[in-house]
Amino acid sequence: MTKLELRDLGTTGLMLSCVGFGASPLGNVFGLVSEDDAIASVREAFRLGINFFDTSPYYGGTLSEKVLGKCLKAVGMPRNEYIVSTKCGRYAEGFDFSAERITRSIDESLARLQLDYVDILQCHDIEFGSLDQVVNETIPALQKLKEAGKIRFIGITGLPLEIFTYVLDRVPPGSVDVILSYCHYSINDTTLEDLLPYLKSKGVGVISASPLAMGLLTERGPPEWHPASPELKSACQAAAAHCKEKGKNISKLAMQFSLSNKDISSVLVGMNSIKQVEENVAAATELAIFGKDEETLSEVEAILNPVKNQTWPSGIQQS
Ligand code: NAD
Repeated sequence: MTKLELRDLGTTGLMLSCVGFGASPLGNVFGLVSEDDAIASVREAFRLGINFFDTSPYYGGTLSEKVLGKCLKAVGMPRNEYIVSTKCGRYAEGFDFSAERITRSIDESLARLQLDYVDILQCHDIEFGSLDQVVNETIPALQKLKEAGKIRFIGITGLPLEIFTYVLDRVPPGSVDVILSYCHYSINDTTLEDLLPYLKSKGVGVISASPLAMGLLTERGPPEWHPASPELKSACQAAAAHCKEKGKNISKLAMQFSLSNKDISSVLVGMNSIKQVEENVAAATELAIFGKDEETLSEVEAILNPVKNQTWPSGIQQS
């Protein structure tokens, strides 16, 4: 069996599996998932070489963290053999990036995850807060959590790409270890690519989430709440139908597209079943052997060309 590739995460020294396990589905964000299915998915992920798990107190109003904690305990892998990232600042009740809330938040997350520390703590969707507060108050509070041994590395996440340069240009070098971008490195939207040289120059690790564009690039289609325009949704549906007609799977094509850029340390995909874990790991191992399906990819790119790089608004206007 080909081993799942591990990639360096910036200058952290962490080696992340190129396919990361997004645990938002464990918070029932994409439909109900039983605890048995959740545990079986996490067990299968470990078996196939996935070592990176991402969650947030926001997903399912803390449910994702609780379920992931139960799964990790049930599977019983040694703590130094896996990497957990969770987030702070975004909650079911709203946003709060204050030092006081962030300091309380990590203790709550550790209790739900049943862990003594997390490897990465990320400020979640900072475009909804004041970026200056993130720079001047939140990141310094996270530094203290690092010194206290509750977290090993610090990250920031969000949708608009400008938030990353805004923060990284203003914090002391080395104080942000990683960024998590989502929906900007998939077949329909590759805008993250232009930012990669800048991130590399800063020594910041890159996690790219939502390779399936939060369900747009699946045969099943996106959930009700998906923020894409009707035009983008129908173009993705047409692309999925085209793949199916050819006996191909759009999700596999999308995974392989995202995985092929090695400047991205881990492609974080939301999973809730053994089948999805197996398919997504197989996409990576087959990519390593056979390369991308260039023919189908160029057909799908042509279908998606009219909506290329189309995104949606997120966050508040920054002053
Ligand atoms: P995604 O693009 O990974 O899509 C997930 C959806 O695709 C789910 O419905 C899942 O069940 C389904 N799926 C997974 N594998 C499949 C397969 N092989 N075939 C068909 N369907 C499949 O979107 P996502 O879950 O939103 O993103 C991945 C993870 O990244 C999240 O779980 C979360 O951990 C992280 N994330 C973070 C942020 C942030 O910090 N702001 C934003 C988005 C995502």
